[in-house]
Amino acid sequence: MDLLVVGSGLFGLTIAERAAASGRKVTIIDRRDHIGGNAFSEDDPDTGIEVHRYGAHLFHTSNPSVWEYVNRFTSFTNYTHRVYTTHRGVVYPLPINLGTINQFFRAALSPDEARALVREQAGEFDPSGAANLEEKAIALIGRPLYEAFIRDYTAKQWQTDPRDLPAEIISRLPVRYNYDNRYFNDRWEGLPVDGYTAWLTRMADHPNIDVSLGTDFFDEAQPFNKAATVGQVPIVYTGAVDRYFDYSAGELSWRTLDFERAVVPVSDFQGTSVMNYADRDVPFTRIHEFRHFHPERADRYPSDRTVIVREYSRFASRADEPYYPVNTPADRAGLLAYRELAKGEADVYFGGRLGTYQYLDMHMAIGAALSMWSNRLA
Ligand code: FAD
Ligand code: UDP
Repeated sequence: MDLLVVGSGLFGLTIAERAAASGRKVTIIDRRDHIGGNAFSEDDPDTGIEVHRYGAHLFHTSNPSVWEYVNRFTSFTNYTHRVYTTHRGVVYPLPINLGTINQFFRAALSPDEARALVREQAGEFDPSGAANLEEKAIALIGRPLYEAFIRDYTAKQWQTDPRDLPAEIISRLPVRYNYDNRYFNDRWEGLPVDGYTAWLTRMADHPNIDVSLGTDFFDEAQPFNKAATVGQVPIVYTGAVDRYFDYSAGELSWRTLDFERAVVPVSDFQGTSVMNYADRDVPFTRIHEFRHFHPERADRYPSDRTVIVREYSRFASRADEPYYPVNTPADRAGLLAYRELAKGEADVYFGGRLGTYQYLDMHMAIGAALSMWSNRLA
């Protein structure tokens, strides 16, 4: 073995695939019973509809190298992601665009008139000086739109006061003064034609790659454990960074999600793939209806039932799946301490969402792995 990769998510798979293609023998271990990390999907047993087990995953990128790379393993459909939100019993388009603004204010404003209105309502904060998510959101869209669509959704999703969250979270959502309601701004987007798992499986399908599932790096009963491998073989570690150091600089906080699945006896439950619920009195953040991610499979999917998943968000304990880094000021201090400790680990390379404690989309995880491979490992 020339390289041990801990974690078979897109970061670990990209490293393993590159190493295998250049003639290195690689072992990938994962504590789960499947490869692919959080991008894994499977066919729902009652409907045959592809369901993303760890929450809906939409691929999008503007990075030509990443786009070229992923197309070696799968083609993508022309699915374009659009999201709607329900606020006080009315459905509005997201991200906030001229349609949302005109519907909310019951107006027919032109782009310039809408800009002028939002500028007037946003005056209390300057976007460049915004210190937290609330200030940044108000600076971008003004207080009335913030209170309707962002404040309570964000509080539900992060279980944290928006004034204690970093401003960057909201920068993920564009604000548009036209009627374009594409959720992402990227040049390319789509879903893998024959599903995520087919894509992820092809990445690991190489004679130089061995995959060992159900294998936890910290389990001393298995041969690829930390004590037996660190210092013996180069390691790319994509598990949680605080766990690696046995939480010696404190626990980093994460959000986890609970998914509540239901099969509903109708052909179409909500008419779209994702409906957000902006208000505090609805306990879940959104409902995913998976059939809408693949309209091209309409002939294969049943017409008398559909599968929906309600998503609930809460703080993660050690026993939960860590999904989103919360990134409070205390977390940022802890992360700096772990980065220092990581520098002292000879031949261990920390990567991916858990290993770097970063909110990485798939294309970012793949791009970061391609860079780590060519700049540090190759
Ligand atoms: P992961 O996929 O988390 O993989 C890490 C792997 O390491 C896991 O398989 C885990 O089991 C394994 N592991 C951890 N600890 C150990 C251990 N001790 N021993 C062995 N194995 C271990 N991105 C998008 O581009 N579009 C989206 O729409 C999107 N939606 C998302 C929705 C949700 C709910 C979440 C959580 C993420 C979403 N993402 C999305 C991000 C996407 O999941 C990540 O970018 C991608 O999974 C990153 O891959 P990774 O390899 O860093 O981590
Ligand atoms: N957000 C919101 N209202 C919405 C959708 C998003 O306030 O209806 C905020 C929320 O803080 C969220 C952030 O925008 O964390 C980024 O949204 P995105 O949909 O990218 O979150 P993800 O899909 O990664 O959970």
